[in-house]
Amino acid sequence: EVEKKEIEIPAKLREYKGVWVFVEQTEDEPALVSWELLGVGADLAKTRGVELCTVVIGDNVEHLCQESFAYGAAKAYLVEDSLYHYYRTEPYYKAFCHLVRKYKPEIVLMGATGLGRDLAGAVATELRTGLTADCTGLSIDDRGFLLQTRPAFGGNIMATILTERTRPQMASVRPHVMPLPPKDASRKGEIIRESAPLKEEDLVVKVLEIIDERKGRQVVDVAAADIIVSGGRGMCAKENFSILQELADELGGVVGCSRAVVEAGWMPVERQVGQTGKTVRPKIYFACGISGAIQHLVGMQDSNTIIAINRDKQAPIFEVATYGVVGDLFQVVPAITSYIRELRAKKASKATAAS
Ligand code: FAD
Repeated sequence: EVEKKEIEIPAKLREYKGVWVFVEQTEDEPALVSWELLGVGADLAKTRGVELCTVVIGDNVEHLCQESFAYGAAKAYLVEDSLYHYYRTEPYYKAFCHLVRKYKPEIVLMGATGLGRDLAGAVATELRTGLTADCTGLSIDDRGFLLQTRPAFGGNIMATILTERTRPQMASVRPHVMPLPPKDASRKGEIIRESAPLKEEDLVVKVLEIIDERKGRQVVDVAAADIIVSGGRGMCAKENFSILQELADELGGVVGCSRAVVEAGWMPVERQVGQTGKTVRPKIYFACGISGAIQHLVGMQDSNTIIAINRDKQAPIFEVATYGVVGDLFQVVPAITSYIRELRAKKASKATAAS
């Protein structure tokens, strides 16, 4: 429960109107988190009775304005120039601040990605306003303030933060925290073309070359997977992860893990789920030998179905689990895998018999 002090929105801040979402793109490809933010942005805009708008900055990116209308925006502010071909902090934050100063939005949302974190910090610093990073909940209170909820003190409490004296109210949200709103390609909106007073010769940073670290290295994107089979310290050793890989392969999923596993050197950091790892929302999340510390739960508790396997029936993971199995994972996991194989074999032989 938020303690409500009697602070009304000061008159000079009331001229700030509208909810803005920054559309992040790399080489014209939008980051899905931008559309996820349009879902929660629409709710905020509706409650405030204001417009939902996007900010699209780049080089040949007008198609992203149309796409933002399809995801619910009514208006898109478009800044296009070869200057914005590659992301650089300076031109992007200057263009963004130019728009904010001119059009005065009350709320600005950005994805808490590498790029979004960089931009949001620079914009908030330049505008001398508040920014709450990695929000897990956003809503409007009865006075019209944005309630920005996020884990605090290592995830042990949830803090709700307000920006009472400055505008815009800025928040970033990690990918997969908010659900993706439905897309309707027939929706139309208004494009406002803008340009910022910037010249290439004034910019101190030049992009010489892009080196993709992932090239030649197989990186598994746990955040994009529909099925995740995660292991924790209960896996006991690196080589034991093969039983999780077998189950994941059987289901067409990927293997994830807790931080304890990364710290032990059993899995690379990109597989880590949780507050300091990835936030995931798969159809099925298996938690094998994971106790369910709050820092792990915040990264996976919105999964559609959670199946927890733990030999300690008191483990907190069972509080968020859809199905819980109290038992030794070294017996339970292979049993699930062979059961799925059996079902599949039966189905295949039925299909052959029928044909
Ligand atoms: P443990 O807590 O040790 O749990 C192991 C579990 O395995 C136990 O419940 C045990 O009963 C069970 N088990 C053991 N053997 C078997 C068996 N044979 N069969 C079945 N069950 C068995 N953690 C994250 O995961 N992700 C994060 O992003 C993250 N960020 C953090 C950020 C901060 C600031 C801090 C302070 C901590 C963070 N942590 C994070 C760490 C978190 O607090 C926990 O320490 C961690 O999640 C514990 O990992 P675990 O569940 O694998 O290990």
